[in-house]
Amino acid sequence: MSITGINGILEKAFAGRWIAGERIEDALEISEKMNLRKTGSIINYLGEGITDKKRIGEASEKYTELISAINKKKLKASIAVKPTQIGLSKDWKTAYANYSKIVSYARKKNVFVWMDMEESIYTERSIALYLSMVRNGNTGICIQSYLRRSMRDVKSLLEEGSTIRLVKGAYKENSTSAFPTRAEATTNFVSIMGLLFKHSERFMAATHDKTIIEKAIKMSKKSEAEISFGMLNGIMNGYAYELARTQDVYLYLPFGEEWVAYGYRRLKELRNSLLIARSLFSKQ
Ligand SMILES: Cc1cc2nc3c(=O)[nH]c(=O)nc-3n(C[C@H](O)[C@H](O)[C@H](O)COP(=O)(O)OP(=O)(O)OC[C@H]3O[C@@H](n4cnc5c(N)ncnc54)[C@H](O)[C@@H]3O)c2cc1C
Repeated sequence: MSITGINGILEKAFAGRWIAGERIEDALEISEKMNLRKTGSIINYLGEGITDKKRIGEASEKYTELISAINKKKLKASIAVKPTQIGLSKDWKTAYANYSKIVSYARKKNVFVWMDMEESIYTERSIALYLSMVRNGNTGICIQSYLRRSMRDVKSLLEEGSTIRLVKGAYKENSTSAFPTRAEATTNFVSIMGLLFKHSERFMAATHDKTIIEKAIKMSKKSEAEISFGMLNGIMNGYAYELARTQDVYLYLPFGEEWVAYGYRRLKELRNSLLIARSLFSKQ
């Protein structure tokens, strides 16, 4: 389903607000505008759970095109790749071939590659895929604080010189693998962040939780670790631009036609959020 192809409130009020558009050019144009406001972008080509060989190949090619354009336009932008978009839900060999191709090409073009984290059934293999290229130096991995395993994962990832982007987590998980409440995910976020301040060279705190952001800024004054902040496009851009005056800030900017899964995760969060009115009507 395309953004322009559906009618109604959902299209106008939600998807269009969070997603750059369908084309690479749409993402590049918005990224340029963000850069003018001292804010970097993390550009993601929408798509996940792909098992069709041709579509996996196309997604991988799209990233090559994106890396090349970011380099040419000298944007302050990195890319974010979902493991199941480049083959992890098909087979390891395909995922490895695509991930190593993307990361190697990005290194040549001086572009940073984030690996997004999806449902916990993929966590183990995503980490293994990430570690297969960690020595390349230009790649980082997302870790979700709602997972019970994450503190352990972060400790072992740091031993391998990994760069972490810490989030709370966006997928439906059972209480065996994840903390059942947002409050517990928040507490674990802060604990993991403490570890990152102590033992990492740099990391990203990716959250809209202002209490955490303020805490992180305070903690950063006593730490050597370089911190950057990440937020999703269309949630609190005004606040992100303000924060970017004093901090290193990136907005996660998806583009493409496969917006449904992404849109519904954001919708679920919007429903849970007390800031519905602010998200919809605040100045971007
Ligand atoms: C840069 C970046 C990359 C991410 N990558 C991943 C990933 O790879 N894997 C993954 O599982 N998750 C990812 N996420 C999503 C993340 O896990 C959370 O689901 C999302 O950020 C909301 O959690 P929060 O930390 O903002 O805290 P919450 O406690 O959920 O929200 C804090 C406050 O933010 C505001 N808010 C949050 N969401 C919305 C919304 N949709 N609309 C309006 N207001 C809102 C509300 O004011 C809310 O009270 C990413 C998030 C960011 C910012």
